[in-house]
Amino acid sequence: AGTMAYATINPATGETVKEFETASDQEVRDAVARSAEEYKSWRTVPVAERAAMMHRMAELYRERQDELAALITLEMGKPAKQAAGEVQIVAAIYDYYADNAEEFMKGRTLTPSTGGEARVVLDSTGVLLGIMPWNFPYYQVARFAAPNVMLGNTVILKHAGNVPQSALVQEQLFHEAGFPEDVYINVFASNEQIAEIIIPDPAVQGVSLTGSERAGASVAATAGKNLKKVVLELGGSDPFIVLDDSNVERTVKHAVSGRMNNSGQACTNSKRFIVLEDAYDTFVENFAQAVQGLTPGDPTDEKTFVGPVSTVGARDEIMEQVQDAVAKGATVLAGGGKPDKPGAWIEPTLLADVTPEMRAYAEEIFGPVAVVYKVKDVDEAVELANSSPFGLGGSVFGADEAAALEVAQRVDSGMVFVNAVTGTAPDLPFGGVKRSGVGRELGPFGIEEFANKKLIHTP
Ligand code: NAP
Repeated sequence: AGTMAYATINPATGETVKEFETASDQEVRDAVARSAEEYKSWRTVPVAERAAMMHRMAELYRERQDELAALITLEMGKPAKQAAGEVQIVAAIYDYYADNAEEFMKGRTLTPSTGGEARVVLDSTGVLLGIMPWNFPYYQVARFAAPNVMLGNTVILKHAGNVPQSALVQEQLFHEAGFPEDVYINVFASNEQIAEIIIPDPAVQGVSLTGSERAGASVAATAGKNLKKVVLELGGSDPFIVLDDSNVERTVKHAVSGRMNNSGQACTNSKRFIVLEDAYDTFVENFAQAVQGLTPGDPTDEKTFVGPVSTVGARDEIMEQVQDAVAKGATVLAGGGKPDKPGAWIEPTLLADVTPEMRAYAEEIFGPVAVVYKVKDVDEAVELANSSPFGLGGSVFGADEAAALEVAQRVDSGMVFVNAVTGTAPDLPFGGVKRSGVGRELGPFGIEEFANKKLIHTP
């Protein structure tokens, strides 16, 4: 409250560092016009030339890793070591599409039943709008921009209000890597400008949004009204199913990193720990001890694993979810409170005895709060896992890999990992089902979403 829509506020201290003006309507209209004009020439640039720029982009990320990592630590509180990790995967994503786009774009040859030859190639479609969240300020952008810019599309990017400097530096990196000025344009637009100016513009062919269900539903409604394609990467409440208590130390290590990575603010954090009753006591005792032992620390310190959450508002929302559960009878096995200091701090927390009337049961908790459930058998575990409105990722842990795989196959989500937490890599598709969204990013699938899968038929 009282701050501008785009501002850097250090979540570790609560200090407002820098504020930015929102774009005027005319500036937003100009951005769309420039992008549309650039598209006409960008689509004709040979893919090999695009790839050379994209490789340069990856190099810039590696050269400036420390500076880029420090910027996201400042703006959204990501612990330093994880911030460096984000910069590294982003470089890998730019390299991946630089290396593979040309091959992906060749598409495939079909043998038509009606004779002749049919080739389906991936062609560009035009101007795209990206709307991205603050939790992985570079990675979210790279997943969308890398394949689409390689394809020949141009990009307008509206980033989250709390990461304006991270937003600007990415536009600058595109320029420094040698891309023509308007291939990638950052706009500090309002939600109204998005709905009234950008999405309806005939030059704009699609919108990719990563964020909450609320934002996804609103943007998808506008896109639908204007007949524009969407990709939506929304929330998750990933199950982490524990089948037995073999190797409990390793399982708990994964549980802690699965839930607490990025200070609990990843869509694919493990959020619901579903444990078979024979393994429950051992798992919970060890997990509670591990969570209790986590002290949120200075995110600029290389040794910090859990930092603050992104904003004081986000912290308050998480606290309300926890307090609602506690008021309705949930048990706090670790944490449960907030440190008394300025900034967006919250204690890593473990809750048990969570029931359907509590918000924590079906809502996504976007912070360092784990919920553990006891189930009597595998069928009940699968039923609980699949009762969520979300279906993004998930994990199944067990000594018998074949048995774990069988359970994994029954989980209704876009991604499921056996004896590992949900991960991401440039060549692995990423995305969900149900309220977690539509479409896929990364891998060969990520370049298809906004491509014209163009049929060329020859005799
Ligand atoms: P959010 O509030 O939905 O914000 C995401 C982006 O959408 C921001 O740029 C935001 O701008 C914008 N936005 C919000 N409402 C809008 C509207 N009506 N029209 C146009 N743009 C709008 O998301 P968040 O809560 O900060 O981010 C966390 C959420 O993202 C979680 O639910 C998480 O699970 C999800 N997420 C999903 C994935 C995935 O790949 N599936 C990855 C990461 C995060 P402002 O900041 O200016 O409001």
